[in-house]
Amino acid sequence: MIVTAGTKTTKIEEDLVLQAVRNMGDSVHYADFIPAFEKEFGEYVGSKNVLLTTNGTGALHLALLALGIGKGDEVILPDMTYIACANVIAYTGATPVLVDINPETWCIDEKAVANAITKKTKAIMPVWMYGQVPNMDALLKFGVPLIEDSCPAVGSYFKDKHAGTFGEFGCFSFQAAKILAIGEGGALVSNYKPAFNRAKKLADHAETDKQFWHDEIGYMYLMSDIQAALGLGQLRHIVDLLTRKFEIYFSYMQGLHDLYPMNMVNKNYQPNFWMSSIITRTPDERVKMRNYLKGKGVDTRPFFYPISMFNMYKKRFSNPNAYDISLRGINLPSGVRRSDKEIAYVSELIQKFHKTY
Ligand SMILES: *Cc1c(COP(=O)(O)O)cnc(C)c1O
Repeated sequence: MIVTAGTKTTKIEEDLVLQAVRNMGDSVHYADFIPAFEKEFGEYVGSKNVLLTTNGTGALHLALLALGIGKGDEVILPDMTYIACANVIAYTGATPVLVDINPETWCIDEKAVANAITKKTKAIMPVWMYGQVPNMDALLKFGVPLIEDSCPAVGSYFKDKHAGTFGEFGCFSFQAAKILAIGEGGALVSNYKPAFNRAKKLADHAETDKQFWHDEIGYMYLMSDIQAALGLGQLRHIVDLLTRKFEIYFSYMQGLHDLYPMNMVNKNYQPNFWMSSIITRTPDERVKMRNYLKGKGVDTRPFFYPISMFNMYKKRFSNPNAYDISLRGINLPSGVRRSDKEIAYVSELIQKFHKTY
């Protein structure tokens, strides 16, 4: 099977992880890789403060908690996104307000945001969907705190500024399918020190400056040192990982962009091409194309379903672009270990299918 995702590890990771394993019982060096990865990741994305977390979901949850968001508050987010976004808002007791996406960027539509803002709006959660780029200039103009779901967006930029560094908080995921992948893991970044410190406290069961003294109910969202060593290793060859993603996209683009809309990219919108994706002509075409590819040993993924389709979040929302793109979009095999030959094979199969459908 030619699978959709998957990273590549090198001797760099192996050496660092082995070191972390050997450090485990060491009373001085048992947690050296956490500050090291935090520092280098902060330098890479351009953020002063980094907290490594258990996963991207934890980072998102912490961001909401640190801004004091809770019952009676509203948070605006795109309808087409991963379920984590709506769930973390629900954890706090706040209401997720699901709005439409821009059909070209596949990210939140700023005009839809403008229509959804009320007195209760406490934050906007733009999502860098599949590493694609939201219009951050337009979103900043609302003057509402931004919690960026930049989970899949390591290496994505809007106007030369890295994903996750525009708003109050940026949230990253290092889950196994992502570009920087360590199995499970994430990071919360912020340039706002007081809010960041608040998140850091809540991530460690709200421990105060006095050891083992807790003055409120907190959470446990911290990463382990072995994962941090693996992450540091991945970060040290991130350019290779990103270059391979681009090569894969470029190859698909040459074969397919005359047939199907693909990832949007221009001088201001610079995605990381985590996923090379196409938008088929109809939902029926998507189903048949995916089945055809599967029969030929090619794994693909459907775009996320709109959150408002799920029972837990069913409301009055009407988001035509989200429903349309969601049911026609396909993520193609984009793992960095896929060979040029495999990518060319997938392109040819899709070209063949296009003729007969
Ligand atoms: C991967 C991802 C997440 C969740 O990250 P986890 O580390 O699995 O919690 C959230 N949002 C988006 C858009 C993602 O792609």
